[in-house]
Amino acid sequence: MTKRLNSWHSRHLSFGGRITLINSVLASIPLYFFSFFRAPCCVLKSIEKIQRNFLWGGGAEERKVCWVKWDQICLPKEKGGLGVKNLELFNLALLSKWKWRFLNHDNAIWADLLRYCYGHLPSLLLSGIDITPSAHSSLWWRDIISLGRGMSDSWFKSNISCCVGNGNSIGFWQFKWYGNQAFCDLFPDLYAKEAIKNVMVSERLRGNGLVPLWRWNWSESLSVNEAQQLTELQGLFDGFSLHDNNHDQWRWIPDSNGLFTVKSCYTYLLDLRKVELQDAHVLEAIQRLWKSDVPSKVNVFGWRLLLNRLPTRAALHHRGILTNHHELSCVFCFQQAEDENHLFFSCPFSKGVWNKVLSWLGTSLQTGVKGRDHFLLFGDLFKMKDKGRVRYLVWLATTWNIWNLHNKVIFKGNIPDVSSLLETIKLHSWLWFTSRYGRRSCTPFPFWCLNHMSCIMST
Ligand SMILES: [Zn+2]
Repeated sequence: MTKRLNSWHSRHLSFGGRITLINSVLASIPLYFFSFFRAPCCVLKSIEKIQRNFLWGGGAEERKVCWVKWDQICLPKEKGGLGVKNLELFNLALLSKWKWRFLNHDNAIWADLLRYCYGHLPSLLLSGIDITPSAHSSLWWRDIISLGRGMSDSWFKSNISCCVGNGNSIGFWQFKWYGNQAFCDLFPDLYAKEAIKNVMVSERLRGNGLVPLWRWNWSESLSVNEAQQLTELQGLFDGFSLHDNNHDQWRWIPDSNGLFTVKSCYTYLLDLRKVELQDAHVLEAIQRLWKSDVPSKVNVFGWRLLLNRLPTRAALHHRGILTNHHELSCVFCFQQAEDENHLFFSCPFSKGVWNKVLSWLGTSLQTGVKGRDHFLLFGDLFKMKDKGRVRYLVWLATTWNIWNLHNKVIFKGNIPDVSSLLETIKLHSWLWFTSRYGRRSCTPFPFWCLNHMSCIMST
């Protein structure tokens, strides 16, 4: 993987391009292995490290500053991440597919073989009794069987519901097959006296007619109290009958069709891992941002800006990269510490830029707002619905160009100038506007400059 990465030269790729590569290529390299075995922790860690370095623009060996936590990057875009696959969870989801197959391919030859080696498969997977695989079991089997039934979680089992057919595959006491609780939990005294703990439903309950026929087998005789409980249990089954011609079936609860998919399992696992939630307003801003029709590198830039994760001088100082105090002040005004809020919104230079932009648009914005509030208010200037794809073009063009100019001032010694920056903003927003996907009519640049609002509203 390292070799393949070196051939790509991450430095020459945009951030957006790197995300695409990570998702499409990097994640598919270990896929074959991942669908059979549980990847050891150290392997996962080193692959993740390669991905992380690649994303943030380093080579395979070189260490780069990671500006956003990996856990957050792995969240879906609508939850504030970049939708990069979390390999550990993806590995679990791929392996869980085997469990689902054990339940549903009862007649396959390989299932016979597994049954012969290890016993009744649904009982092993869903009974709730903790089974430690023996040292003689294969590595593959041990990986699969121990999955989703750790000390504190039994997520696989709790997401499977039983649809009783003939009752031949469902354990009477240990499965949740009738109501929301297993009978071993609901009637612990009776369960204690059951002679065969993992007995199947069809061996205790018979009869197709209106009255269920019971066949009990107790290890000791029942007390008066227990006999009372038994009557209660039997009473629950008034009018119930098994369907001798139907097999027992299973439903995977997270999927609306009840069928297991790796995707639904992965999403479920991702939700289970409670990564700290974003401020609701930031999240709303980010959700709107991703709808914008701009180059992916610009969207990622906007994402970092809304999260306050750009390498401003204050941020570099905070991480110990800039140590000299003289280097902390804003490159435009030299007056204040350069963080996102100052650089993009309250610096006299940036204020001048926004004033020019707003008067170009023929509108105004409440003063003193910053960051996500500024973003959200700006979008509200275009009050019509369904303008999500174009609403933030100018906002993004403005912040993107302020940032580029900031870098040029530092690295190339450019002199900041509001008027020429405004021209670049007009040009960029026009380029993004006219090259949007599916666009039919072509708007000439002078028309865009003069009638920006009507162009946006006409989409
Ligand atoms: Zn400033």
